[in-house]
Amino acid sequence: MTAERRAVIVIGGGPGGSTAAWRLALAGLRPLVLDAAVFPRVKVCAGWVTPTALADLELDPEKYPLTLQAFSACRLEVDGARHETRWRRPASYGIVRREFDHYLLERAGAAGAEVRDGARVTGIEAGAPGVRVETTLGVFEAECVVGAGGHRCPVAHALGEVSAHETVVAAQESETRLPADRAAALAPLMDAPELYVEPDLRGYGWYFPKQDVLNIGVGITDAADGSLPRRREALLAALRASGRVPADLALAPFRGHAYVVRRQAPRRLAGPRFCLVGDAAGLARDLSGEGIGPAIRSGRLAAEAVEAWLRHGTPLEGYAARIVALYGRGEPGWLGRQAARVPAAIARAAVRLSVGLGPARRHLVFGSIFGMRESEEVAR
Ligand SMILES: Cc1cc2nc3c(=O)[nH]c(=O)nc-3n(C[C@H](O)[C@H](O)[C@H](O)COP(=O)(O)OP(=O)(O)OC[C@H]3O[C@@H](n4cnc5c(N)ncnc54)[C@H](O)[C@@H]3O)c2cc1C
Repeated sequence: MTAERRAVIVIGGGPGGSTAAWRLALAGLRPLVLDAAVFPRVKVCAGWVTPTALADLELDPEKYPLTLQAFSACRLEVDGARHETRWRRPASYGIVRREFDHYLLERAGAAGAEVRDGARVTGIEAGAPGVRVETTLGVFEAECVVGAGGHRCPVAHALGEVSAHETVVAAQESETRLPADRAAALAPLMDAPELYVEPDLRGYGWYFPKQDVLNIGVGITDAADGSLPRRREALLAALRASGRVPADLALAPFRGHAYVVRRQAPRRLAGPRFCLVGDAAGLARDLSGEGIGPAIRSGRLAAEAVEAWLRHGTPLEGYAARIVALYGRGEPGWLGRQAARVPAAIARAAVRLSVGLGPARRHLVFGSIFGMRESEEVAR
């Protein structure tokens, strides 16, 4: 079978892949995007995005035409104590992934990317003549590929030297669009997102409103003990007891999956003919699990690297160095290793203390860990 040939193929059309494709298309390189799903597709995700992520997308939240809720407050609960932080301007946003991802992919298409959805990549082979990409819609060849296929990205698994011992976050969420009367009745509770720190500090639950959409969920690291369903049920019981989820409100089923967070030696992020972005590169933030922002930022950087390689022969490995400079190597430094040895009771007391102090909560917990900053504080 003859293969169709392209300069660059982006595998995966989530935020990482669509951002890379959009930037490549603006640079005049007409990338081909292949995604297994047919868009608009559901993506299991709370849909919490930071101002930095929207700035990287050059997306004005006031002009975004689909579901988006801006948040100038957030509540955080630890050991039953609830604390609220307020900002003068929005410090984070809620979007619906099915809409958001489709919007970004269509924008990449409008900029000149060729998008083929419903094309599952089944094999990747990189060699001297280029990269061979086998898909359910036929075979393609390219000078190089951007691996943006999320946690199970075929490029990462073929070329990224993925270790079997990576730390993953396991998360489950339920997203329900509320009937108008329900949304109106719950409106006083749906003005701000709420986070509930798990008692053993292994993760957190969330109550996350997005206009008339309610997303609730829980995520933890190291879910091998099978405790995620118990934590989910405990969260649900607490939300029902407090009236945040009325007893007779039917929620969409919980769904979830695991994904890698940046807490170990990174995957091989780039090689002679490939680079990995977003979840494929394991870039989600360690403590918050935020993966959309890193997918978008790495998509931009990958597009710059691919353009420099195609036009000037600059090796793609420089991309890996930029990612490490931005997100670190993923391995804990001296301080992180010492912190891991602190007894659980002391760690809990330290968390309670920093959450209870307004400035520490604003700058350390919400700012540094969750990336919530007022728009003018956002540095590019
Ligand atoms: C329950 C849960 C809640 C979360 N909440 C948040 C949150 O609120 N905020 C946040 O920032 N992050 C959140 N995350 C993480 C976030 O969803 C991911 O980090 C983010 O989607 C990564 O984007 P991406 O573009 O790298 O990959 P994805 O969005 O996963 O996109 C990958 C794309 O590749 C396609 N693909 C996969 N395999 C193939 C193949 N073989 N061939 C072709 N195409 C393929 C898929 O169809 C998909 O469209 C959450 C994750 C979970 C599980």
